[in-house]
Amino acid sequence: MDCIFCQIVAGEIPSETIYQDEEIIAFRDINPLAPTHLLIIPKRHIPSLTHLSEAESPIIGHMVNIANQLAEREGISQSGYRLVINCGEEAGQIVPHIHLHLLGGRRLTDNFG
Ligand code: 5GP
Ligand code: ZN
Repeated sequence: MDCIFCQIVAGEIPSETIYQDEEIIAFRDINPLAPTHLLIIPKRHIPSLTHLSEAESPIIGHMVNIANQLAEREGISQSGYRLVINCGEEAGQIVPHIHLHLLGGRRLTDNFG
């Protein structure tokens, strides 16, 4: 498997993992765009939202729930934070394994591109 995030899940590529359970892991983005920039991903390889079946879709709710808890832990629950999932090339998805960005710790622009 040459998926970089599957390799992070397998521990083959080091990451600053800050949460994991049976279904997901969360780690710090290697190229942070904000003081808090975490990635929350399913352990199972799902290439993008387009590939997410209805049966698999509860994983997204779980990812959001954990993101909310991590935002609290990072101290940005009150100041505000943004959750983003890019899907496909024109949205800027680089890594073909679903990931939820958690961004916060500074005032984010309202530019959605
Ligand atoms: P995308 O553009 O696909 O939505 O976001 C991919 C994100 O993964 C980028 O923010 C990028 O910095 C991050 N990333 C890519 N490779 C690695 C890696 O090996 N380790 C970590 N921690 N983050 C990575
Ligand atoms: Zn993968």
